[in-house]
Amino acid sequence: MPKKRTGDARRARGLVPAIALVLVLVAAYLGFPKIRQYITAPAVADPYGNIEVHFINIGQGDCILIRTADGNMLVDAGPGSSEDLLSDYLSQLGVAGFEYAVFTHPHEDHIGGADMILTDFTVSNVILPDCTYSSATYNRMMNAIDESGAGVILAETGSEYTIGDLRATVLAPNSPDYKNTNDYSIVLKIEYGKTSFLMTGDAEAASEAEILATYGPDMLKCDLLKVGHHGSDTSTSPEFLLAVSPEYAVISCGRGNSYGHPHAITLQRLENAGVIVYRTDEPGDSIVFVSDGVSVTPKNG
Ligand SMILES: [Zn+2]
Repeated sequence: MPKKRTGDARRARGLVPAIALVLVLVAAYLGFPKIRQYITAPAVADPYGNIEVHFINIGQGDCILIRTADGNMLVDAGPGSSEDLLSDYLSQLGVAGFEYAVFTHPHEDHIGGADMILTDFTVSNVILPDCTYSSATYNRMMNAIDESGAGVILAETGSEYTIGDLRATVLAPNSPDYKNTNDYSIVLKIEYGKTSFLMTGDAEAASEAEILATYGPDMLKCDLLKVGHHGSDTSTSPEFLLAVSPEYAVISCGRGNSYGHPHAITLQRLENAGVIVYRTDEPGDSIVFVSDGVSVTPKNG
């Protein structure tokens, strides 16, 4: 039994400095506000508020809302057949207007809702590609722009537009003439703090190759890729995807669409690259991501 008593005594003696240290820390914490502040303050203050990026389910087409505390950006307005749905979605969020409305290229599935946006919401600036088009929808959009009084900016590669701490850089189109209207698509790199999103419109492999040649892989690396042309096999070339190396990808397409979007090969490329894919043709009004300037996370799981 003496052995046991000796062990207990040694353990008890060992506890004394530990208890003393705890007492000193508690006293310091209670007695000295500066020490308390140092103990409880986060290591690095976060200067960024949250922004949200909404990929709105408008059926076959694109419509992306970027909300910041300093203003909103819209990238495309979906087809005309979804304009009531889009109007309701924006109104429910309390969105009244946009610093920038970007209409990536003149196809109906991207600009069909543009006249509604310009008529019912306040738009400070419209960004368009330098590409005229012959369609009733295009004419409606151009008339609505005239009547709205919004500033008109023709996208030039390398141009930057900011809303507070958010910066959008135009990466395409890089050529004055294309045979394929999709390749006129304005491609935007959206940066917020350390996070970034790539909005590609319907840019196809030809434009992707130009972007890669002009800007290099460092500029293309992004947290999230809005997959080009609704997941068509004409876009998301392997070289482009490798350069972007996103954690997340969003495919905007209508359920059961007649184009077969997204194409199996695009899905395979994304899967092979280990990208987490979200699709607007799955149930839900929208897919929403949040950035705090440090990381991008899906809002609903
Ligand atoms: Zn499209």
